Amino acid sequence: TQTLHIVGGGMAGSEAAWQAAEMGVDVVIHEMRPKVETFAHKTGNLGEMVCSNSFRSDDDEQNAVGLLHWEMRTANGLIMTTADEHRLPAGGALAVDRDPFAETVTAKLKAHPRISVSYEEITYLPQDGHWIFATGPLTSTNLGAAIQAETGAEALAFFDAIAPILYAESIDMSKAWMQSRYDKGETEEERTAYLNCPMDKDQYEAFIDALLTADKTEFHEGETAGYFDGCLPIEVMAERGRETLRFGPMKPVGLTNPHSPENKAYAVVQLRRDNALGTLFNIVGFQTKMKYGAQTEVLRMIPGLENASFARLGGIHRNTFLNSPTLLDNQMRLKSKPHIRFAGQITGVEGYVESAAMGLLAGRLAAAEILGIDLPTVPQDSAMGALIHHITGGAEAKTFQPMNVNFGLFQPVEGLKGGRRGRKDRYKAYTDRAKAAWQDWLSHS
Ligand code: FAD
Repeated sequence: TQTLHIVGGGMAGSEAAWQAAEMGVDVVIHEMRPKVETFAHKTGNLGEMVCSNSFRSDDDEQNAVGLLHWEMRTANGLIMTTADEHRLPAGGALAVDRDPFAETVTAKLKAHPRISVSYEEITYLPQDGHWIFATGPLTSTNLGAAIQAETGAEALAFFDAIAPILYAESIDMSKAWMQSRYDKGETEEERTAYLNCPMDKDQYEAFIDALLTADKTEFHEGETAGYFDGCLPIEVMAERGRETLRFGPMKPVGLTNPHSPENKAYAVVQLRRDNALGTLFNIVGFQTKMKYGAQTEVLRMIPGLENASFARLGGIHRNTFLNSPTLLDNQMRLKSKPHIRFAGQITGVEGYVESAAMGLLAGRLAAAEILGIDLPTVPQDSAMGALIHHITGGAEAKTFQPMNVNFGLFQPVEGLKGGRRGRKDRYKAYTDRAKAAWQDWLSHS
């Protein structure tokens, strides 16, 4: 049949259902709540916000999330238009009254003549039909096992361990340098794949002290099981001994500082390219549960990162997500079972807005396929396109971790001033270009 089945009625599933139904496709949403609960959801509503009540910045000229809001509004997005109806005063942010918000999302979906809701847990990947799985970070255990059976254990994670990611342009290269340990690699590019920030003994000791006293986030109950083995947060490593980091991710071996070749560094923080564009770097092995304020303060103690500007901060969460760069095509279809799409946080985006955005795309792409409409590729210059391109192709598959939307994912606009001074003009140029590209894409469906 031509019915679209959507599993999960959260941020992504709700938006996907709305978009597909508005394009003229019949939709069934399969939602396990309230029958089966998660540790974070509190109601049986569709579109429930599990934690904060904010969709973050609403600035569509200087902020990538705000731009995503704009693109979703322009596409008649259910989540954004409903958020606007339940908006609370919050400065430049889009915060909402969460219960009425989710109740209205639920009511609008249920009232739509093409949408029905079936309250049940889906525990398998079906063999045929048209499906979108949008089951989120807390995908039920049974379904998680079924997905893993299809993808292999390596390609579906149950925790994220995010090291901070920062903008390349904000790193002080008069202190840092590019070099791989022991100059390993076949090509010049590989021999200079890492960016190194040196510390002397005093700097290292002060850094450890700061880690030990920094404010940290606690895990939710039932959140930690089985996670700690692979990737300890840096502050936990520091707690295990003052030297642990110096013998771990901060070991100073195999590196020579060209700014000061005679002084051997006592410890070295390494950063690695995070995207093909080379605009973002992540700090290697620096997953952390420090609170955001503490995190920026502590990380800016690293020589070379004093003025670092962060595209996203580190974190560790219970989070079910796919290795999308290897598993999904550029229409979010599972390569091994193309009648199944994934959407939302499970595709490796992070946040309500990004999840809803990927739902919006998946809903439109699935509906177009059912209706026989040939849509062009989502333009990489739009925020939607930058995000889908990152998760399905631009990101490094080996080290893939969930991503927020940010301007580091955008292709540079030629001929504009770099650095902090040019930032305002640059962001305006990105958002102008994105809006035009997005409107053009929408005109095809
Ligand atoms: P969800 O909104 O979680 O929707 C998935 C839906 O699928 C749920 O309704 C679930 O019940 C259902 N489901 C799961 N398995 C099945 C199944 N087998 N069969 C049928 N239905 C199923 N993001 C922010 O921007 N701000 C925050 O403050 C924030 N806090 C978070 C706090 C926690 C504890 C967690 C886990 C995540 C948080 N996130 C936050 C991240 C994320 O953006 C949200 O989780 C967001 O809701 C993801 O949207 P989604 O549609 O992908 O998943």
